[in-house]
Amino acid sequence: MLSTPDPALALPVPRTDHWLETELNFLWESFFPDIPIVNQVEISFARPWKSRLGLIRLSESGSHTYIGINRLLSDLQVPSQVISITIAHELVHYSHGFGSPLPRKYKHPHCGAIVPRELASRGLTAELQVFKEWTSRHWYSFYFSIVPQRDNGRSGGRFWRYESRERGRFGDSA
Ligand SMILES: [Zn+2]
Repeated sequence: MLSTPDPALALPVPRTDHWLETELNFLWESFFPDIPIVNQVEISFARPWKSRLGLIRLSESGSHTYIGINRLLSDLQVPSQVISITIAHELVHYSHGFGSPLPRKYKHPHCGAIVPRELASRGLTAELQVFKEWTSRHWYSFYFSIVPQRDNGRSGGRFWRYESRERGRFGDSA
């Protein structure tokens, strides 16, 4: 006798810290298999930053790397490609020796668009395209739909000044 499919199986999986770890492992194995794991790497959802999606930090001793992901990306309204690229972006930094004990390959973590070029060369072009479109079109409206702005009569002006000051470094703080 045929059983009815469990409707719960069709539901999207909630994005928890455990889900993040699984996603990090999946991305590492699938797209960065040549990059050795040389210390303890931890990942979790972090602050709901307005102009940063992720960060990567190395402990002083070098024994631990911490990857923090903007907790607003746990919302299932955000396309999965946005969170995949955010994690993969930090893995590129790790592979280049930023936020990791690996030898540093470049002087600056973001010089010459090295991160998007490496993501594309590792086979993440389609995901990168979704990431770029969604973050440029929807990020700020999504942010303000969840983190309401205090209405002090000049909020719009503050938003634009902030955005212009942050231009060119939206993404992370590696
Ligand atoms: Zn970066």
